[in-house]
Amino acid sequence: MEKMPEEKIVALIGYPVGHSLSPVIHNAAFKNLGVNFHYTAFAVLPEELENGIKGIRAMGFAGANITIPHKERVIPFLDALSDEAHLIGAVNTIKNENGRLIGLNTDCIGFRRSLKERLNFELSGKKMVLFGAGGAGKAVAFSFALAEGKELIIFNRTLKEGEKLADKINRCTKCTCQFVPWEKGMMGIIEDADIVVNAVPIGMFPKIEEMPPIPVESIRKAVVCDLIYNPEETVLLRKAREKGLQTVNGLGMLIYQAAEGFRVWTGMEAPVKLMFEAAQKKLYFWNKLS
Ligand code: NAP
Repeated sequence: MEKMPEEKIVALIGYPVGHSLSPVIHNAAFKNLGVNFHYTAFAVLPEELENGIKGIRAMGFAGANITIPHKERVIPFLDALSDEAHLIGAVNTIKNENGRLIGLNTDCIGFRRSLKERLNFELSGKKMVLFGAGGAGKAVAFSFALAEGKELIIFNRTLKEGEKLADKINRCTKCTCQFVPWEKGMMGIIEDADIVVNAVPIGMFPKIEEMPPIPVESIRKAVVCDLIYNPEETVLLRKAREKGLQTVNGLGMLIYQAAEGFRVWTGMEAPVKLMFEAAQKKLYFWNKLS
């Protein structure tokens, strides 16, 4: 009797994990390419994180995705970090290399690739205005700086987080970065930006009528990017589109970070079109049910 290859498991570790699109995206891709992998989500409490990570080794999982609230706290439990994960100080993907756990940050690649594939937009030499300095904001800031973005202005509600991020970008990369407290406003700064990114959850489902304090009317030419993907078009993106600006939502970043994880675990190129369709279908049903 022919022996079936052993199924390889990839885990999502976060708390909570019920809202995640990743299982649907990855399992659709594994099935499509006929690889014997399965992706499954585990809700792991912060105090159990170390045990959860040991479980990846103990059970021989191929790897994992790490999500809120563990992306930074997971680092001491890993054996090595990619340069990007080290710089950002956050890990969203783990590769298990024979028991050695390598931490990566594929959000960085996901953001860059989304702009390239969807709008043919390159970050090199550009001016970016970024609203938000949380986990996603940090990945976007380093993605920009490492792609030789020229000038970065960060707005954030909490001073300390924004200042810390701007300082690290200035120390560790060639990009010129400035932090501005959000109550100062973006006038005089946003007009000549090449790209404006919202990395705060204002406008996200279910509060879809809300909009971050970004003065769209003052933007002259920038591509406007909202990392939110539910709803598909936030109020911010609608206003930008109505003004004639190019827009992109967060689904591309989500899919392309997943595609990079898929490549790392399986060694194969991910079927991104199919991954987009699987995510869109799931979002459609979630929204219909709510
Ligand atoms: P996070 O680490 O919790 O950071 C949240 C950020 O939003 C912080 O900068 C926080 O500012 C700010 N913020 C939250 N509520 C705010 C409010 N009411 N007013 C002003 N600022 C507020 O979360 P995250 O992981 O960065 O996620 C941020 C957004 O990005 C979410 O919408 C998330 O869905 C999206 N995201 C998308 C992707 C993707 O692949 N498309 C990936 C990750 C995240 P303070 O520092 O002042 O708290």
